[in-house]
Amino acid sequence: MSNILGLTDEEREIQALARRFADEKVAPGAAERDREKKFPKALVTELGELGLLGVPVPVEHGGAGSTFTAAALVISELARVDSSLAVTVSVHLSVGTQPILLFGTDEQIERLVPPLAQGHRLAAIALTETHAGSDLGAVKTEYRDGKLHGSKQWVTNGSYAGEIVVVAKDTEADGKLSAFIVSRPAEGMSVIGEQKKMGLHASNTADLAFDGVACERLGEPGAGMRVALSVMDGGRIGIAAQATGLAQGAMDLAIEWAKEREAFGGPIARLGQIQAKIAEMSTDIEAARALMLRAARLKDAGEPHTIEGAQAKLFASRVARFQTGEAIQILGGAGYMEDLPAERYYRDAKITEIYEGTSEVQRIVIARGLLGDAAR
Ligand SMILES: Cc1cc2nc3c(=O)[nH]c(=O)nc-3n(C[C@H](O)[C@H](O)[C@H](O)COP(=O)(O)OP(=O)(O)OC[C@H]3O[C@@H](n4cnc5c(N)ncnc54)[C@H](O)[C@@H]3O)c2cc1C
Repeated sequence: MSNILGLTDEEREIQALARRFADEKVAPGAAERDREKKFPKALVTELGELGLLGVPVPVEHGGAGSTFTAAALVISELARVDSSLAVTVSVHLSVGTQPILLFGTDEQIERLVPPLAQGHRLAAIALTETHAGSDLGAVKTEYRDGKLHGSKQWVTNGSYAGEIVVVAKDTEADGKLSAFIVSRPAEGMSVIGEQKKMGLHASNTADLAFDGVACERLGEPGAGMRVALSVMDGGRIGIAAQATGLAQGAMDLAIEWAKEREAFGGPIARLGQIQAKIAEMSTDIEAARALMLRAARLKDAGEPHTIEGAQAKLFASRVARFQTGEAIQILGGAGYMEDLPAERYYRDAKITEIYEGTSEVQRIVIARGLLGDAAR
């Protein structure tokens, strides 16, 4: 593969490792795990052993000491064959582990990050509640008397995570939002439901109740919104990587099919309308990848990347949703059947326009970033 994207040797090696793992270990069981809604526990353990759950974590904290760009490439490679595993890893690497690295004390980082980076424990973040999604300020879960009280919904990795970052109203900070870490086992925390979903069947999406749960602070009292927003900047790059990877997987399948499937005396690949779809698809995917890598590079350079991360997610998720539909179109009726992964890619694509900020929210982030106070 050419290195037109300017990746370092190390990033290319990590990408190649993830690609090999995706093709050899993840792809073969992806359809079955999707059908049986089975969380890929063994694969998560193997990813940890390979060092892929700590890619952007500094070596002194137990990670591989590589870049966020490399982490995004890993997420993309996994999504190319299995988006459920990709989002499990994306949440762990970005919005799960990064807040502890960015806002934790030295002692918290030393104690909590190495087991996450080595895959001994999974990370999650719990922001969303029944009446608080895009509007994070509306959360009702409360920190009082040193404990968390309330509930969170749709927490990716929620049933399995060892560390869960929770954002809650803080009675010790005038009711402002603060961030906390809950570590399993956690007395008083229970999984009250696991969601059945349109796609991502092999990922875990749990509802959690907190009935007086002991926790520790993450960051300053009242800094919860800042913690959430800043880690989401990176999280969006992860979702853009997921969207790019799954669109790539759908296109690879469509190209293979177009060469094999015959109609009117030859392969459908010779038909102009099929060629046009493949041309549009590949162009969209490369543009999505370029936006995703640009945002990741800015993050690695310590530069602001709020607008760029939102642009990458907005664009890549739209590409994923539209082009997975085009892949089905190229496969015709076979694309609609469960025997082939095209319909799974299509189901898995939609959510990339919703979680870690909907597309509407991304437009607000981009517009406010560009227009400043005039947009308010
Ligand atoms: C599979 C899955 C996994 C998830 N994982 C996690 C997780 O790990 N942790 C977590 O905390 N949450 C998680 N979520 C929740 C997810 O982040 C939210 O669903 C998302 O932020 C949107 O919130 P909402 O669903 O409440 O939609 P709402 O906020 O109710 O939005 C509904 C609609 O209104 C639009 N809207 C809202 N506000 C505005 C506005 N100001 N301007 C224009 N339009 C607006 C939205 O764009 C959307 O179209 C997950 C969700 C799913 C489905």
